[in-house]
Amino acid sequence: MISLEDRVRVLPGVGEKSAAKLQQLGLVTVEDVLCYYPFRYDDFAARSVLELEEGEKALISGIVMTPPTVQYYGFKRNKLRFSLKQGEVVIAVSFFNQPYLADRIEVGQDLAVWGKWDKAKVAVTGMKLVAQREDELQPIYHVIQGVSQTSIVKLVKAAFDKGYDHLLKENIPTSLLERYRLVERKQAVRAMHFPKDIAEYKQALRRIKFEELFYFQLRLQQLKVANKVMADGVSIAYKPLEVEEKIASLPFNLTEAQEKAVHEILRDMQSTGHMNRLLQGDVGSGKTVVAALAMYAAYTAGMQAAMMVPTEILAEQHFESLTQLFPDLSIALLTGGMRAAPRRAALAAIESGEVDMIVGTHALIQDGVHYHHLGLVVTDEQHRFGVHQRRLLREKGGNPDVLMMTATPIPRTLAITSFGDMDVSIINQLPAGRKPIVTRWVKHEQFPVVLDWLEKELLKGAQVYVISPLIEESEALDLKNAIALEEELTAHFKEKTSVALLHGQMKNDEKEAIIQAFKAGHTDILVSTTVIEVGVNVPNATVMVIMDADRFGLSQLHQLRGRVGRGEKQSYAILVANPKTDSGKDRMRIMTETTDGFVLAEEDLKMRGSGEIFGTRQSGLPEFQVANIIEDYAILEEARRIAEQIVSDSDWETQPEWQVLLPYLAKEERLD
Ligand code: ADP
Ligand code: MG
Repeated sequence: MISLEDRVRVLPGVGEKSAAKLQQLGLVTVEDVLCYYPFRYDDFAARSVLELEEGEKALISGIVMTPPTVQYYGFKRNKLRFSLKQGEVVIAVSFFNQPYLADRIEVGQDLAVWGKWDKAKVAVTGMKLVAQREDELQPIYHVIQGVSQTSIVKLVKAAFDKGYDHLLKENIPTSLLERYRLVERKQAVRAMHFPKDIAEYKQALRRIKFEELFYFQLRLQQLKVANKVMADGVSIAYKPLEVEEKIASLPFNLTEAQEKAVHEILRDMQSTGHMNRLLQGDVGSGKTVVAALAMYAAYTAGMQAAMMVPTEILAEQHFESLTQLFPDLSIALLTGGMRAAPRRAALAAIESGEVDMIVGTHALIQDGVHYHHLGLVVTDEQHRFGVHQRRLLREKGGNPDVLMMTATPIPRTLAITSFGDMDVSIINQLPAGRKPIVTRWVKHEQFPVVLDWLEKELLKGAQVYVISPLIEESEALDLKNAIALEEELTAHFKEKTSVALLHGQMKNDEKEAIIQAFKAGHTDILVSTTVIEVGVNVPNATVMVIMDADRFGLSQLHQLRGRVGRGEKQSYAILVANPKTDSGKDRMRIMTETTDGFVLAEEDLKMRGSGEIFGTRQSGLPEFQVANIIEDYAILEEARRIAEQIVSDSDWETQPEWQVLLPYLAKEERLD
């Protein structure tokens, strides 16, 4: 008997080692494999030769203009030639040593050739002949080091060959399938991996997107109902005078916007209602200190406050800031990488109430963590946490108030739809004395000029980030690029400049040591993959160079750029890119024109709204496997409406119509 819960090891070619690798991709069961969808397809459609690069391999289609001729030269060597017309372009096609293809080529026929493009000669060297109808779509999956494209393709094929797909159960109620004319689950899953044509793929995609967004909304709505049930939140009787004193003792004056946010938060905390507030502020606007003051207020009321962040680097950084701000308090750090003994000590101190504040990663919501009068939970860059994690954290201590910080300027409507019903505080002002970051876009050819300029800046004592390019398909390549870049810069600047490398595969202590050295000014240039993206604060760093910047979306570029301009010195961002697409060029231009996160978010929305089908993953909002919260906003809205309706009936779980939802809702959302 086969079951969807079967481990991936039942599939041919999967041993213990590869199973462990696959697990890193979230592939544990065969069902996971079936539902691991490609993020794009190659030769998705025949391409226009006008947009092909020299030497690029692509599927080129056209109408056959001249009959094929075969020229023989030497023993068994021959060349078949014909011409193909695409739009106004006449393309010379040649195939080596495949004379028999001539039978398949007729003048006037619509034909496609998979081959290598020669731009100068307007010619293609064919590798494969494809009749237009049987247009192949090759799925491309996200992979990691040690798991190849081919191995994923094989794995998926094997799962289908063994008939696992027949076990997939429908998880959307029939009434909804009919109302929205959605294809069935089995059919959709198959078509996601092996679409016959674009139309079939689009239908499948629409259904899978709906499924994703619908379940997301169902969970969100359930959470909302649960919140209402526990509506009697705690009233945190903080001591206003002590908080005011703390504010007065800060090394700087709060901006008006920060003050306003602090007061909104304090008002919520004091009221008996349950606080569920989003603190939104552009990068560098000073959200941390606002959150820290809220935590301090909880402390003055004799309650614990916890801050949960997505990475260990950030946890360490916030731990340090809080320790500096509140030297008299007992603050605990709790991360996954901790050794057993200190961890035990921290846990005991948290439980006994000896600890006033706790900062950490996902470790904060694990079993064995018991809080002592937890009054407030702050999450930083909260979009990285799923609904499920937020719920877990909440359940840890009565019903603490929740403050979520985010640097992503989420348009209000989107915020409401994707985060349920939250109040929003906005810090729309940067601290006094900040100079807008000067941003320049240069081509790769100009990199030597950038290096010369960097040299001058380094002489003036600047510290520099250089972000290495992002290769979506492979972490291993990302790393290789980062290493090469570090070597290049080390060789270029010689001993007088110290260059360090930071990447995602390093151990946490290693990462931490490197960031500390940079903070302390021992390192001049920090070459980094995008691990640096979120929240890192080194005010003395004033230059950010982003290689292949066009590979990043606007929000991510904005986040990256936000690592500089955090002090009073003039800061610079240099985008090095030779974008191939119009959207890439537009992104570079927009970045040089504005540093305002809200303007960028709007531009981002506009650009994405017009639909890059296989765009990079949207950063800053909840992430889905296939859905894109911005492009698919209409589906999301609709899904929210239905979910709300369903959940509003307190007996919904007993009704036959909704039974198919229960098993999938019960499945835990995967931790990121
Ligand atoms: P973000 O909003 O991006 O999280 P941070 O909270 O990290 O920003 O703050 C960025 C920097 O600005 C920090 O070094 C912080 O100490 C400093 N800062 C925050 N508020 C002010 C202020 N009102 N005046 C001057 N500097 C401030
Ligand atoms: Mg921050």
